[in-house]
Order: sequence, then structure tokens, then C-alpha cells
Amino acid sequence: MTHDPSPLAPATVAVTAGRPPRVQGGPVNPPVVLSSTYVSQGVPGDELLYTRGGTETWEPFETALAALEGGAHGVVLGSGMAAIIAALGDVPPAGVVVVPRHAYQVTLGYLDDLARRHGVEVRRVDIADTEQVLAALDGADVLMAESPTNPMLEVADLPTILAGARQRGVFSVVDNTFATPLGQRPLDLGADVVVHSVTKYLAGHSDVVLGAVVTDDDDVAARVRAYRTLHGAIAGPMEVFLALRGLRTLPLRVERANANAAELARRLAEHPRVAEVRHPSLPTDPGHARAARQMTSFGAIVGLRPVGGLAAADAVVDAVRLWVPATSLGGVESTLERRRRFTTESPTVPEDLLRLSVGVEDVEDLWADLSRALDHGAR
Ligand SMILES: *Cc1c(COP(=O)(O)O)cnc(C)c1O
Repeated sequence: MTHDPSPLAPATVAVTAGRPPRVQGGPVNPPVVLSSTYVSQGVPGDELLYTRGGTETWEPFETALAALEGGAHGVVLGSGMAAIIAALGDVPPAGVVVVPRHAYQVTLGYLDDLARRHGVEVRRVDIADTEQVLAALDGADVLMAESPTNPMLEVADLPTILAGARQRGVFSVVDNTFATPLGQRPLDLGADVVVHSVTKYLAGHSDVVLGAVVTDDDDVAARVRAYRTLHGAIAGPMEVFLALRGLRTLPLRVERANANAAELARRLAEHPRVAEVRHPSLPTDPGHARAARQMTSFGAIVGLRPVGGLAAADAVVDAVRLWVPATSLGGVESTLERRRRFTTESPTVPEDLLRLSVGVEDVEDLWADLSRALDHGAR
């Protein structure tokens, strides 16, 4: 369960972890091996055999992400959802799962499916309400936490609820997609497992769909790898190559995107056409004090409710020219969407909530486009 923490700073780990051995004439980057099968004869041992079971192209990315999260094992899977389902694999029939009511909507959809098929009890909580979470953990099997939540940006008291889970023997999973390991390290805060939609910040260029699990626990890592092989939830070698390429610049991208988000949130809070803005960097945000304690940066997702409700929110999306109206998040380009356009989004998410994924463009250009779109909605 223990491992030596890296003595290097995260920005250095992101660049250096998972490199091939430093040998004369050797490549600086790991080679991408495109082969579905490996030469093999006789009784198979530990060697590579068939790519559904393992390929050398996964390992450098897994090593680098595990190092950034401060975990012993990284396991890459075909999507964030595959990672979440693999991590949740141990929910017993008729078991109990505690989850934020505003978790990622497909996570909630999967838990509803478990409820229907296996009689699992899903306790949807306000993850920012620590007393409510601790009460729900009594008699639970798994805590599937998210902080900040997607899309409401609620901040959980992670050290307290993760300690509460541990005391009660509840297995804890934290979706760290929004914060990235540079903003928050859930294993250090007491989580059993971290999951990522690598699709988002880690890969960072809106060109792959990928997921990952990080854990210190040898048994959990073995179970997740077995899940990946049995269910075929594997990542393609080219996707993992792109994700590792993206990971090398994660610190630069996150630093810029987070700074842009904090500046835009500050300006939005003063804009006359804005009814509400949520970003944990704002001193007035309900999650600010907590986020400042447990996070090293506040992320680049901003929640925005324009004055004028649903119609005004749609008008903003129609009026932007630089921002891209699109789902997903965490790419270099700034995107936005009204979340309740999905009928599957939680009904307690306000209809007029826009989720902004702030990218790495020039902040003045982003502000000019967004503030013009807000003013446009007013006409
Ligand atoms: C996108 C997302 C997921 C799902 O990841 P995929 O790679 O799309 O399968 C899970 N959790 C959060 C917080 C996300 O934003």
C-alpha cells in the first residue's frame, strides 16, 4: 500500500515519467506498437500475447499518470465510463452506493442501470452537505464521489467524507476529471481509487476518448485489469500515444486554462447580464474555502446562469463565435453548452445553467466574445 513519493515536482513528472530507458541510440519517446498479437508458442508465461490482455504501448502512460496521482498503479481503459464501471466493479447485488445527485449524468445512468438489474440502492446526496453524506455512508458499500461536481461545481469536504468512508469500511472512488492530479490528489486525501475521463484535460486536445483508474491497492489494480480484459474495455495504442503526448503539456495547459477561468469568473460576477456564476476561485463561491484547503488550483470549468433564463442561455450559445458550442470539456479550445438540453441531465440542475470549459486562448479574446454574446442575449 505504500510507495515512495516522487521527489520531483508535478511539472517535471509530467514531462519525464514513463520515458524509455536512456540508452545510446534509443528513442526519447516510447515506441507505438501496432500489433494485435505477439509471437508465442507453447505454454504462455508472462510475455505479451494478445493486445486485449496487454500491450507495451499502455505502460508509459499508466506510469506517468500514476506518478502524477501519487498512486502505485495506473490502468488505462477505453473511456472514462469504462474506468468508472471497472472501478465500481465490486458493487454487490442489492448493495448500496452513495453518489452526488449532480454527478456526471452517465455515471448516474449506470448506477440506475445497476439499480434496475441488480437491486442496487443508489443514495443520491448533496455532496457538499457533509453531514448528509456521512449519514448516507452508514451501511453503504461504495462511495462514488466527484468534487467539484459536473456540472454544478459543488465542492465536497473530501478529507472528511473519505475518512468517514474508511471508518465504515466503504470503498471510495473519486472522479478527478475536473480537478486533474495537478489540482487535487484524492489518494492523498484518503480515496481508495481515482478515476479519470482521460478524454478531457489529461489528453487535452479533444481528439481521443479514453479513461484511467489509479490506485495504491494491488488487489484493486488486478481486479480492474481483469475487468478490462474480460469486458474488452481496452484502449487503442494510438489513443494512448496521443494521451501521453497531451499529458506532457498538462501543467502548461492547466495553468493557463485555470488562470483564464478565474479571470473570466471574476469579470462575469460583475457583468449586469449574469444572474449567477460558479467557480471555486471566487471568494463568494460556496465551495471556495473548502477548495482552497484541499485543492492546489481551482480548475477551468465555470458555471454561468445569464439573466433571462433558458431563452437567454440559448441566445448566448447561439451568439458566441470564438467559443465552440459543444459537449465535453478539458480541450485547448473553449467550449460551452446548456446542460439541460440533455433530457438525461439531473432535473435539479437549473435549466439555464451554461457549463463553460475554458481553454488556453487569449483571455481578452475569450472575454470579448463572451461578453458580446451576453449583451446580444439582452436585445
Ligand atoms: C466526461 C466525463 C466522464 C466520462 O468520460 P468518457 O471518457 O466520456 O467516457 C466521467 N466523469 C466526468 C466528470 C466527465 O466529465
